[in-house]
Amino acid sequence: MPNNTDFVLAVEGVSVSFDGFKAVNDLSLYIDKGELRVIIGPNGAGKTTVLDLICGRTRATEGAISFKNQYIGGLKEHEIVKLGIGRKFQTPSIYEDLTVFENLEISFPRGRNVTGALFWKRSEEIIARVQEVARMIFLGDHIDRLAETLSHGQKQWLEIGMLLIQDPELLMLDEPVAGMSVSERRKTAELLKEIIKNRSVIVIEHDMKFVESIAHRVTVLHQGKVLAEGSMEAIQANPKVQEVYLGH
Ligand code: ADP
Ligand code: MG
Repeated sequence: MPNNTDFVLAVEGVSVSFDGFKAVNDLSLYIDKGELRVIIGPNGAGKTTVLDLICGRTRATEGAISFKNQYIGGLKEHEIVKLGIGRKFQTPSIYEDLTVFENLEISFPRGRNVTGALFWKRSEEIIARVQEVARMIFLGDHIDRLAETLSHGQKQWLEIGMLLIQDPELLMLDEPVAGMSVSERRKTAELLKEIIKNRSVIVIEHDMKFVESIAHRVTVLHQGKVLAEGSMEAIQANPKVQEVYLGH
């Protein structure tokens, strides 16, 4: 059993090597309930690999990862999803030829069985939940549109919605505002503030204005290690961080 803590997620002394190269090197990270943590760092720092480790896509060679005081290091990706960890990848993976409504509906936990997913009865409960999530992701007026007709930003929101409908306790987003317009970024910040109300969120992001507008705490990764951690102000004032990251 891991030590009993209030952390929703504890990553402790985790390393992973790819062909002898340590992409993540003795990394520890603790996420509180209700916390919005942003991870920043130069390209190749290991940010995406950290999310891969947490969601079970990549296995750590050393260290331990626990979610709500349960070790998850040996679990399969779908088991980790079931425990309440949702993860959004860098490129949106939505069903282009389905509507917004259908994309959300098939992501509803009961709909995981793909063959049955499109055919089961649309109960009042599911319809209400789909509409609620569609409104949250600013697509309430676009519910019957085919996903392929959405803007890039709207597709990103739709994918976040597909995770939200599963009600994860920990949501991880890899560069969610990449390619978004300024106004879409602003709305995404609003959305994150809304969804953080009953869950924890980890966001990987480059856009410093965006980071500043959302982060509770910031972790700076560099060469697979935590270089610094703290408030945005502390991070920006940190000379080590300025040297490796903000100066570029
Ligand atoms: P970031 O997201 O911070 O840009 P990544 O986590 O994607 O960085 O990558 C960290 C390092 O690990 C990079 O050098 C990358 O090439 C390497 N890497 C990531 N995943 C793999 C993999 N599956 N196989 C081999 N090397 C990988
Ligand atoms: Mg990455």
